[in-house]
Parts: sequence; structure tokens; C-alpha cells
Amino acid sequence: MESKRIYLCLAHMGGNEMKYIQEAFDTNWVVPLGPNVNAFEADLEHFAGNGKKVVALASGTAAIHLGLVALGVGKGDEVICQSFTFAASCNPATYLGATPVFVGSEEKTWNMDPQKLEDAIKDRIQKTGKKPKVIIPVYMYGMPAYIDEIMEIANRYEIPVLEDSAEAFGSLYKGKMTGTIGHFGIMSFNGNKMITTSGGGALICPDEETKRKIMFYATQAREDKPYYLHKEIGYNYRLSNVCAGIGRGQMEVVYDHIRHHRHIADLYTEAFRDMEEIQMHREPEDYMEANYWLSTITFEGKDCESAIVGQGCEPCEQVMRTMKALAEEGIESRPLWKPMHTQPVYKDAPAYVDGTSERLFAKGLCLPSGPMVTDEDVERIIRIIKKSIL
Ligand SMILES: *Cc1c(COP(=O)(O)O)cnc(C)c1O
Repeated sequence: MESKRIYLCLAHMGGNEMKYIQEAFDTNWVVPLGPNVNAFEADLEHFAGNGKKVVALASGTAAIHLGLVALGVGKGDEVICQSFTFAASCNPATYLGATPVFVGSEEKTWNMDPQKLEDAIKDRIQKTGKKPKVIIPVYMYGMPAYIDEIMEIANRYEIPVLEDSAEAFGSLYKGKMTGTIGHFGIMSFNGNKMITTSGGGALICPDEETKRKIMFYATQAREDKPYYLHKEIGYNYRLSNVCAGIGRGQMEVVYDHIRHHRHIADLYTEAFRDMEEIQMHREPEDYMEANYWLSTITFEGKDCESAIVGQGCEPCEQVMRTMKALAEEGIESRPLWKPMHTQPVYKDAPAYVDGTSERLFAKGLCLPSGPMVTDEDVERIIRIIKKSIL
């Protein structure tokens, strides 16, 4: 019998998405603005809390891009980025002619190491005579970072923080939604994220005035005139009213999704609890609550300890063996993000790292976690993983 294919995080519809899309068609709002966009933004503002304003955009990448534009990033500037992340975190700095400066991770949350962040800021000021323009910490796989420590350093040097919370929709830090702590935060609604609009994202803004400014940049920076007057460079980045309809439906089931992701993480945690060979990545502090967008593990066997540091850095044999065993059973898994400072495209960018992210990349694996993954699926996955360990 052909068994069910299992994916890392497959989109799952709540039920009312088509109703909102139908409304868009019936009222002829098939454009990148309209009632679904406004209502979706209101849902997101309510969800984010903390008095934040939200602008719905075409992608999470666009949200980072516009955040950097609003913070005045331009040619010759430096932007501090977490090295251990997806390329979309740092590419927008490059779009603007700025240079990403990569900062390594600490072992507990796998996110930006506050100590290395401060080392990097001091060294950049010494080397270039000016401060980095923005700091972009990331919440990888939904795990909160040591954001209070990062904010303390950022505030001391007066550098704004843009939180890349694309993977952390609904994760909490000391009871606050991640993405609402820095000056800006972002959301992603790509097909495989916590909720989807097929493709989409949002920028979390501190106030109404900033929201208006972001809307201005997102709609070609058109001045308030009867003709098209442009004093600044704009973008075409608003979310479609059709896609926002999907988002409204998804927001009706978002808490179910988060609960399910956390439940799946608990099942993996229980199964690997007594195994020396496997470590499940969990919150290191009780004031952190991850959404477990993806459950992630590391293999602690000897062959994974000697990761090659630098550009040649690759997943260890055990990771490849387990991935292959899962793939043969139709189950998707994936190594962790390959650190940006080891990517050929960023080989010349400054990096303040100590091998932690390389080691994690070498021994880590992402496991299926989405709303379509059942308890029985997890049992099957765990059986295969255990069998694949040498
Ligand atoms: C998905 C993702 C993004 C970008 O979001 P898109 O909506 O796909 O453009 C940015 N940063 C991280 C860490 C992501 O995982």
C-alpha cells in the first residue's frame, strides 16, 4: 500500500477562505486594496496587540525591504543580520546597496548572540567610523531570541531593531508577541508558514503615522496630488484583496494551528527525551513560548561534532542518512538553514561568528510539523528516525 506523503508544513484551510474570496469577486475588489485587506490588517493588529499597526504586503521579504527603506538604509550603510537564517532576512539590505554584517548565534535559542552583537557593533564603529544602521534578529523556527538583551544593546548604541519574526507568528516572549518588541517586526504568509495567503507578508509598525509612511512606499510613493508626482522611490508591494481573503479565513483558525504545532513538538520531545543521540530543540527559558513552526532536532553522535567551519560547512552523515530514510518513506525533512556567512554569495561580508551556527547546521534537522501532520504520522516519523541512527 502506498503510504501518505508527509510534508514539513503544508497549508491547511480553515473553511471560510473561499467565502472572503467570493466577496472580493462579487464586489469587484480584485485589486491590491479593499475590504479584505483592511479587515485582515485589523485581525493582525488585534493578534499582535501591544498597540501596534500592521501593513499587509506582498511578502515577508517586501516587509523587511520597506522597513529598511523607512529606517533610511542606503548605499554604503551596514545592516547587522543574524547569520543563521534564511536568505530573505538579509537580502533586502543588499537590494538597497547596504552591506550585511553577520552575527553568530548562541546555543540556547540558536538566535543572535547578544555578546557577539556588541562585539560586532564596537568593531564596525572602530573600522568604519560609523554605526550599523539597523539590527535584524531572527526567531528561527519560531524560537524566541534573547531579545531583551539585544534591545538593551541596540538602545545603548541607538540602533533601531527590525525583528524578523517571519517564522514566529504567535510566539511569545515574556507574554509579548514576537515582532512587537523592536521598532519594526515582520510577518510572512508564504505557503509553508504558520498561516498562508498563498504568498504575502506584513510589516508591524509602531504607530499610525509610520503605517501611513509604509503604505506610501508600498504604493509607488505617489504624492497627494491629482496627477502622479514622485519625490521618492516607491515600490508595488501591497497585498492583493483576493489573497487577503485567504488571510481572513486563516486568522479564524490561527490559534488551532499554533496549538497543533506545539502539540506535535511535545510528541517529538517525549519520544526523544531519554535518547542521548537526539536533542529536541526546546525553549531554554520559561518566559519564552515558541510556536514550533517547525520541530527541530540535533544529532549528538560523534560524527556530527567535527563540522567543517566556513564555506565548506555541510550537514553531517547522520543528518543525510536520516533524511534519506525519511524520504524513502515519502516524508519530507530538511537540514537547518545554512549560515549566511558560509554562503558563496556572502563570502566577502564581515562576520562575527564562533562556529556555533556551523555546528548546529551540521547536526540539525527540521521535522514535519504542520496542521496536516497527525499523531500517527509522528509515530511513524519517530520510528524511522530511531532506526536510522547508527
Ligand atoms: C519566510 C521567511 C522570510 C520571508 O518571507 P516571504 O514571505 O517568503 O518573503 C524572511 N525571513 C525568514 C526567517 C523566513 O523564514
